[in-house]
Amino acid sequence: MSGSSKDRMRLAAELVSKGATMLAEPCPRDGGIQVRYRGKVYCTSHDDLSSITEGSVVSYDTVVAQMREVILKRLNETTAALGTEQDPTKQDQLVSLASKYFELLQKLPQK
Ligand SMILES: [Zn+2]
Repeated sequence: MSGSSKDRMRLAAELVSKGATMLAEPCPRDGGIQVRYRGKVYCTSHDDLSSITEGSVVSYDTVVAQMREVILKRLNETTAALGTEQDPTKQDQLVSLASKYFELLQKLPQK
């Protein structure tokens, strides 16, 4: 809403350089370009990207969202490894690891 489209493109590019990914689907609200950054989806048209690109401000929600993604990924990998592991000692380690990830996941605030 504020700034020219040129500014928004610059901010979007800045986000991408910081690890954001451009989404194929346009914003359902206004058809703007959407980017996924730290587990959250932002619209380059109606969201205030300048506050995101400042970087020093880390919100609790952002950290939780990021953490959830990381844990789910790890839990998935651990489960896959457990499915193919033959060594009981390693299975035990994987089960204990998966259990910790699961516990952590449940401690995260639910949306
Ligand atoms: Zn939008």
